[in-house]
This record gives sequence, C-alpha cells and structure tokens, in this order.
Amino acid sequence: AEEVGGGDKEVVREYFNSTGFERWRKIYGETDEVNRVQKDIRIGHAKTVENAMLMLTEEGSLAGVTVCDAGCGTGSLSIPLAKEGAIVSASDISAAMVAEAQMKAKQQLPSENLPRFEVNDLESLSGKYNTVVCLDVLIHYPQNKADGMIAHLASLAEKRVILSFAPKTFYYDILKRIGELFPGPSKATRAYLHAEADVERALRKVGWKISKRGLITTQFYFSRLIEAVPM
Ligand code: SAM
Repeated sequence: AEEVGGGDKEVVREYFNSTGFERWRKIYGETDEVNRVQKDIRIGHAKTVENAMLMLTEEGSLAGVTVCDAGCGTGSLSIPLAKEGAIVSASDISAAMVAEAQMKAKQQLPSENLPRFEVNDLESLSGKYNTVVCLDVLIHYPQNKADGMIAHLASLAEKRVILSFAPKTFYYDILKRIGELFPGPSKATRAYLHAEADVERALRKVGWKISKRGLITTQFYFSRLIEAVPM
C-alpha cells in the first residue's frame, strides 16, 4: 500500500541511521569496495554534486554566502561548498549521517570554514539563507509530502533553491515498476519519482520559478537538477 503522511519520515530516519547509513556511506565515499550498481550510483551522484557546484558558482563567488544544505548526508556537497568559502548550515534527519559528515569535514577543512552541523529534519529548519540546496532527498517522499517540503525550503531561501529528484519519465517509471516486482534485499525504503511539472507547480504556488535545469543519468542513477528563483 502507498505510504502517505507521517509514516514515511520515521521509516526514512530509521533506515538512514542503520542499514541505509552503511549502504550510502560506502556509495558516497571514495575508497570502500562497492558492487557494480553501487559504483554506477556513486559516479552518477558525484556528477550531481559537480553540476550543483557549477550552478552555484556560475552566479559568482560563494565566499561569505550563506547556504543551507538540507539532508546533507555525508557532506558530499557541504564540504566543497565550505571549500569555496560559503557559510554552510548542514543538517540531516539522521544523526549517523551528520556524525559522518562532521568527521569528514574536520579532516578536509580548516576549523574556521567548518559547516555548522545539526540533526534536524528539513521541515523543522528555520532561519534565512541566501541559497538552500536539497539533493536527492525528495526521492524518499511521495509528491503530496514533497509539495510541503519544497514550500518550506523556498521559505528559508532569499535568492535561490537548488533541488534534485528522480524524474518521473515514462522510461524510468517502467524501470521502477520492474524493480518493485523484483525487490532486492538492500531496498529497505521505497523510491518515489516526481514529475517535473509537479515540482514546478509546487514552486510556483509559493512564488518561485525554475531558472536552470540539468539532467544527470548513468545506467542506474537518474537525477533532475533544478535551480529556482523568486518570480
Ligand atoms: N544530500 C546528500 C547528498 O546528495 O549527498 C544525501 C542524499 S541521501 C540519498 C538522502 C539523505 O536525506 C539522507 O542522508 C537522509 O537521512 C536525508 N533525509 C531524508 N529525509 C529527510 C528529511 N525529512 N529531512 C532531512 N533529511 C532527510
């Protein structure tokens, strides 16, 4: 049955503090041995981070710019952002993820550039940031929940929002259905695809429009990357 409402979040939190943490820590790392599919996802995700960094730096230097990285995972984006001089607020629903991100950041960054880390779900974040980024998080939520998450992220941003999600295209929809017929042992949470038009509508409802689009695909990884700005 379709999970709607509060259930998704608790399942996601639990997953990313246990088996999901181990699985994604390896995929997002560079050194651990991973299988062929995981390697492909590692490459795809790295491209998403790279493209997001390009979108972010295209408009000028990040030095002194406040950036909220919502659902920061192991810090794949927070760390390069901080390296560019951004003032980064990094948060994630999973305490295990935040601890890993913090450990990696301390290894790679001088203490004065460290992101401010926080265990928090993005719906509970407050404050104002020049830029809000949320990569590969919406995949864990159905569109009816994603609408509210998108609206909340936009409310935290002054200049721009950068989001990535698994696009609901005909081809990928079919692949996903096949995946559901033959679920692998490591698939502890379900993946939700989002139609670009639905994401666009959710943004427009709160006064934001899409200003840039990118698409990252490898064999097993699909991600639509968008930048939105106030209308
Ligand atoms: N954004 C990171 C990246 O691209 O490297 C991590 C992506 S990972 C697939 C999804 C992350 O979203 C996990 O670390 C998970 O704990 C986090 N997450 C899921 N639901 C969340 C929520 N409601 N609020 C904040 N973080 C959430």
